[in-house]
Amino acid sequence: MFELSQYPLPYKKNALEPYISENTLNFHYDKHVETYISNLNKLIKGTAFENESLKKIIIKSSHSKETRSIFNNAAQVFNHNFFFNCLKVGANTNFPRKLLANFTGIEDFSNQFKVIANSVFGSGYVWLVAEAREYKIIKTSNADTPMAHNQTPLLCIDLWEHSYYLDYQNKRAEFIDNFINHLINWEFVESCL
Ligand code: MN
Repeated sequence: MFELSQYPLPYKKNALEPYISENTLNFHYDKHVETYISNLNKLIKGTAFENESLKKIIIKSSHSKETRSIFNNAAQVFNHNFFFNCLKVGANTNFPRKLLANFTGIEDFSNQFKVIANSVFGSGYVWLVAEAREYKIIKTSNADTPMAHNQTPLLCIDLWEHSYYLDYQNKRAEFIDNFINHLINWEFVESCL
C-alpha cells in the first residue's frame, strides 16, 4: 500500500508563489496525486505487484497492455514526486558542469527546453534525461516516464493542464517561461547526475 505521506512536498504549499499558487498545489498535490495513489492501491491489491517497490511496478507494468492502468497510476506517482522535487523559488542558477557535455550553457539549455515544451500537444511532460552517457531533452505523453525507457530523469515539467490552469489558464507559454527562469532547483538536478 502506498500513501501520500511517502511522497511529501519538500516545501510549504505557498513556497512557489507567485509562479505556482498554493491553490494549485492544494489540487495538484492533495487531490491529483492522492487519486493516483488510491487508484494504484486498488489496482495492485491481490496481484503480483502488491508488495513491489514503485520503481519495480513501473518497469514491470510498462511492457503489457493489460497492466496499462497500473503503469499509468504508478508512473504518475513517480512523475509527480519527481516534478515537485524539481521546483524551488530562489534556487541557485549554477548550471551543472556535467551538462556542458551536451549544452553550451544555461542559455542554450533554456532555449532548447522552451522550444520542446511549447511543442507538447495534449497532456505530458518534458524532461532532461541521461541516456547512454548523453544528456538530452525529451517529451513524454500522458503518464509515460523516462524510467520505462532506460533513461535517468534529471528534471521535468508537468504540462498537464491541471499543473497550471488555475494560475495561467490558456497561457501555458508563460508557465513554461516561469518554470525555466524561476522554478528550476538546479541543486536537485545536480543531485540526480
Ligand atoms: Mn500533474
